Amino acid sequence: MAENRFDPTPVILIVDDQTNDVRILQEAVGELAQVHVADDGRMALEVARFCRPDVVLLDIEMPGMSGFELCRLIKADAKLCDAAILFVSAHTHTENEIQALEQGGIDFIQKPLSIPVARAHVRAHLNLRAEAKRLAYFDALTGLPNHMLLRDRVEQMLQKARRSKSRLALLLLDLDNFKGINDSLGHSTGDLILKEVSQRLSTASRGVDTVSRQGGDEFVILVTDLQRSENISDYVQRLLEIIALPMNIAGNRFDLSACIGISVFPDDGEDLEALYRQADAAMYQAKQEGRNRYRFFSQSIESDARARHLLESHMRSALESGVFEVFYQLRFDVRHAQSRGMEALIRWRRDSGELVSPAAFIPLAEETGLIIPIGKQVLHKACSDAKTLLDRGQRLCVGVNISVVQFREESFLDMVKGVLKETALPPELLELEITEGVLARDIDQARSLLEALKQMGVRIAIDDFGTGYSSLSYLKKLPIDVLKIDQSFVRDMLTDHSDAAIIEAIVRMGQALDLELVAEGVENLEQAEKLLALGCELMQGFYYCRPMPFEQLCACLGLTSAREHQ
Ligand code: C2E
Ligand code: CA
Ligand code: CA
Repeated sequence: MAENRFDPTPVILIVDDQTNDVRILQEAVGELAQVHVADDGRMALEVARFCRPDVVLLDIEMPGMSGFELCRLIKADAKLCDAAILFVSAHTHTENEIQALEQGGIDFIQKPLSIPVARAHVRAHLNLRAEAKRLAYFDALTGLPNHMLLRDRVEQMLQKARRSKSRLALLLLDLDNFKGINDSLGHSTGDLILKEVSQRLSTASRGVDTVSRQGGDEFVILVTDLQRSENISDYVQRLLEIIALPMNIAGNRFDLSACIGISVFPDDGEDLEALYRQADAAMYQAKQEGRNRYRFFSQSIESDARARHLLESHMRSALESGVFEVFYQLRFDVRHAQSRGMEALIRWRRDSGELVSPAAFIPLAEETGLIIPIGKQVLHKACSDAKTLLDRGQRLCVGVNISVVQFREESFLDMVKGVLKETALPPELLELEITEGVLARDIDQARSLLEALKQMGVRIAIDDFGTGYSSLSYLKKLPIDVLKIDQSFVRDMLTDHSDAAIIEAIVRMGQALDLELVAEGVENLEQAEKLLALGCELMQGFYYCRPMPFEQLCACLGLTSAREHQ
């Protein structure tokens, strides 16, 4: 069998029982390709299976199997059907031509044969095929092999490695923060960067290795003839260094980095799917640890990846079957002894009945994008429950946690608008809780979004305030209503002076900026009294109320109004 389907020398099979015609055709195409000859249909099939021709020059009238019949058989064979079939014939009847085309032939060469004419026909088809192959097997932007060609090469190399008991490595390389560059500087700059990266990777790798682009900023490199894993470490390190060299694109300097995940045949997997999956898990691990690094696949990475995969699929079905619940925790105005709003907190009840903490699944929901539909469900439920309360005479504002992933999603504003409209909740009874991290990346974008929300009448709270590292100047630039003092400060405020001092500073600042202040995680009376003394009057925490299902909240609201006056 042809060792490499992408060998630049094309293969031609001549099938003709007339030795004289065979001789002329051989002379016509001998310099264009590697030529095989068969003088009847049966033999032609055998030769074709062996040599995998790009082009078949096929006589129509032959003893035994006719050219048409052979053509039909070639087209029906999955391994041969790609071959271009050119009929060679003395027939001039149109029905012959039609039949030939219907059987899958694509051209005719007229007998008596002329060498230059036959050569020109064949050359035209070889050129077409070369171009089609380039389009099908190479990435248009970078000119690197694409996933189709990679698959082909991996399959060949795996066969070789099995025979010679050698090892292969699959490297998955993904640029760090490429999406950020693409989004902020535009796709044309992104494209230039990808081209430069491709060039660097090609230069740094050996001719026997395949550097391919899988799409986006993901590259896969197939490394063959691997001796020891130390060698591969050196090689991968060199790739990272080459990517990290400053890049000059359209007059701007870029300092890029990448993460690489590595899997090795046969240790980590037997086929491309397994090797790719393991390299992907290793890459994910590298990304978790930071930028500019590589990781080999290992068993612990595998069990992590499995667990994540399982959690993700459980989350998907939980979303589809609507088993996510929303609990509510009341917020109190301690000075006036009344409830002053509530926070919606997602809950996931597994089949076993056990509740899973959001801390255990929200991060993965954010990574996988599932937070978008999940967050919408929570928002919808929260707004419709708040509307129910309003209809029963309880005017309570509901706080809903918004993940940074949701906030950055293009349709976020429309989604909020839509939910408010569907649930008919007055916008001022919705408070979106965002963290400082949301504001850190692109303050201008955040401001315009917050202003649009503000225009709609929705309230904005900064959650976990004091734990982010963002500049405080944003507080006066953004339309914020509430600061929620992070529970870590409240937890230790009685024993740790600096926590108490931080709370006091936040309260002073909030008062100066005319913001509402809410202390989170209040667990006992001492904390509540101290907070009140510092000037913080709104509190949320187990001391007052635990998060609870909506029905319980309704009951509790009836109770609280009675209890307030005790
Ligand atoms: P968070 O927004 O800071 O929510 C407050 C968390 O503190 C809640 O945990 C609540 O149950 C807990 N808590 C309330 N009072 C006390 C107290 O007195 N002591 C202590 N130790 N904890 C108290 P929960 O419900 O487990 O939620 C954890 C985090 O998960 C939330 O932190 C929020 O960041 C996230 N989360 C919850 N629901 C959603 C949601 O629907 N969407 C998004 N994006 N995130 C959510
Ligand atoms: Ca919150
Ligand atoms: Ca919080």
